[in-house]
Order: sequence, then structure tokens, then C-alpha cells
Amino acid sequence: MSTLTISHLRKTYGPYTAVNDLSFEVPEGCVFGLLGPNGAGKTTTFKCMLDLAQASSGSVLFNGHPLAPAAFEKIAYVPERSVLYDWMTVGEHVEMQRRAFASFDVKAVAELLAQFGIDQRKKARALSKGMRTATMVALAIARRADLLILDEPTSGLDPINQRHVLNLIINESARGATVIFSSHQIGQVERAAERIAVLDRGNLALEGSVDDLKAGRKIVEAIFPSESFSLDGIASDARIARLDRSGRIVRLLVTADANEFVTRLEALGGAGVRIVDLNLEDIFLYAVSPHDATADVVEGAAK
Ligand code: ATP
Repeated sequence: MSTLTISHLRKTYGPYTAVNDLSFEVPEGCVFGLLGPNGAGKTTTFKCMLDLAQASSGSVLFNGHPLAPAAFEKIAYVPERSVLYDWMTVGEHVEMQRRAFASFDVKAVAELLAQFGIDQRKKARALSKGMRTATMVALAIARRADLLILDEPTSGLDPINQRHVLNLIINESARGATVIFSSHQIGQVERAAERIAVLDRGNLALEGSVDDLKAGRKIVEAIFPSESFSLDGIASDARIARLDRSGRIVRLLVTADANEFVTRLEALGGAGVRIVDLNLEDIFLYAVSPHDATADVVEGAAK
């Protein structure tokens, strides 16, 4: 099917670097989530993959080859903004895709549009924001592509349709397709994606399998009797990826045996010390969050 390899991708707009030295691979059949705050460079990355924005340097390879017309049939793209023609009906968009792509599945698109409650006789201009997204997703899924590049495919959708799109993404991967998608709904990414990359101001902050990222990190949390407590010997430990101290509460993000840090915090007078499992949202926030001015935050080398 399709492997996507991004190597040292860089995109500048004048003096501004939107994407900086980005490298990661999306393995064949994988659902890959691209996360990042507003303006992190997700859309720019997608555009560079498809040559909609010309990379300043670096490369994007599909099964080891640069993008070429032979690959177009195999790639389906849902852009962040609607690309539907306002003067055409949904059915006319279906017909256009049927004529353009040999693999386009007309029966599947009819079913998908019906599931989303979209009347094919409607003009695109009469569709709500969510209906536009759903129409573009339905058209992309019906392409039976090897690689799907989906820029915020749940944007504007209600929770039921969001879940439906996630299920479609998972089904595409079960069929063998490779999927890369972006979303600000981290819970959705956690549900669907096997691997993620987090972009932060154009840089790759984190990349890996969701299970590995979670398994290798724990939070150890403690409350101290007063605000003046010492963390002697702990603050400088390289196995602490991050230390948040706010009032009487301290939270350590540790990449090593969490029990050891429970013992050490208790020895320093910490009460109610507990180990907390991270979810993807914690991992995301630790990867991208700026220093909190109200808290004393120490970032370690192990991040
Ligand atoms: P969002 O989550 O808000 O959609 P994003 O992660 O997709 O954000 P991009 O749209 O890739 O972010 O934008 C990355 C940065 O590049 C932003 O600072 C944006 O202003 C800048 N940028 C994007 N396109 C252009 C352009 N054509 N000219 C100049 N700057 C641009």
C-alpha cells in the first residue's frame, strides 16, 4: 500500500519558518495523528506533502518515491478549508470524482452521504460547515485510496458524526490504507491513532507510538504541608522530564521508575504522594505548553 517518509522538511515564508527540519515516517496501514497548537505547522506540512506549498528543503517520499502523477490516484486529501464548488450539487461532485478516479466507489459514497444525512441534490453553497466537511470526507473515503491525508476531518461536525469519521478512518486502516490526520480534539486522536507527532512552532516536539509514549512516562504528584518545601536532589534529576511546582503541589513528569520518586517525595515531607497515568492530552500539553508564569517549572533533558 503506502509508506510516507518525511525527511528534514523545512518551509519558510519570507523570514518566517513555518516548518523546521521535520522528519518522521508514517508506516503502511498506520493511522497517524498530527497534533499541534494553532499555527504549529500542520497544514503547511500537509501542503508540502502534496506540493501545494513548495518545501524550502527536505523531502517527502511515497513508498520511497517523490510525488508523481502516477501516485495521484492513490492519494486522497481533505484540506482544512472547503474545496467544494458552490454552484454544484453534492451529486455533481460525486459524478466529477467518478469520472476522475477509476477506483472511486459510487455505491460507497452514496451510503456515506446518506449516513451523514446529506442530500445529494443540495448545492454545495447550501451545506452547513459540518455538512461540507462530511461531504469532503465521504468523497475522500470513497476514493479507496492507499494514502489519506486529512486536515481536521472532524472540524465542524457534531459528536455523532465526529465519531463516525473516526470509525471510517479506523476502517480505512483496517483495509490497509495509510492515514495521516490532524485534529485539535486530542481524545479523538487518542482513540484512532496508533502513532502521533506533535508539532510546536514548526518543530517536532514528540513522535512515536501512542502506547510507548504513555508507557514510558508517569506523573508523580505530591502535596506538601506548606509552600516552603525543598526538592533537594530531585529538581536536578535528569530522569525528570518536567517539574511543575505550584503553591503546595508538585507534579513530576518522570521517564523512569515512578515508585522511586514516590519514596523520595515522601522522604522530603510530601503527603498523599501518588502516581498518575498520563493520557495523550497530558503528553501533548507537556510537549508544547509554554512556561507557566504562576508556577515554577523546570524542564529536564529527558523530554
Ligand atoms: P491551525 O491548527 O491553526 O490550523 P496549523 O498548525 O495548521 O494551524 P499552519 O496553517 O501550517 O498551522 O501555519 C503555520 C504557520 O505558517 C503560521 O504561523 C502561519 O501564519 C504561517 N503561514 C501559513 N501559510 C502561510 C503563507 N501562505 N504565508 C505566510 N505565512 C504562512
